[in-house]
Amino acid sequence: MPIPLSLYIHMPWCVQKCPYCDFNSHALRGDLTTGLPEQDYISQLLTDLARDVERFEENRSLHSIFIGGGTPSLFSGSAIQHLLDGVRERLLVRRTRAITSDLKNRNYFGGKPGNG
Ligand code: SF4
Repeated sequence: MPIPLSLYIHMPWCVQKCPYCDFNSHALRGDLTTGLPEQDYISQLLTDLARDVERFEENRSLHSIFIGGGTPSLFSGSAIQHLLDGVRERLLVRRTRAITSDLKNRNYFGGKPGNG
């Protein structure tokens, strides 16, 4: 039985850059509506994924997805849905056991900002 795949997706934007942070992350340039190239970035991620699937002739099933950053929860729920739908179209998704993400308590996908 082939070893299943795990997929890591990086979303490198944060509201601001923390001084101690060594991650590949960048402060938004503007607010959430102007500073986050949501659709362009997700389209590019899906294009890259399609190329990799073709290049590696990948036909193993996807076991888990981790979305890290940065602050992935800055992206809207509809953008994340678009991303996950695109992953499903490009990879064999039989029984994905986990989809996890970094979250900050000030925001969450498609929701209202909290008090964090
Ligand atoms: S990834 Fe986390 S620690 Fe780094 S800048 Fe963003 S919020 Fe701060």
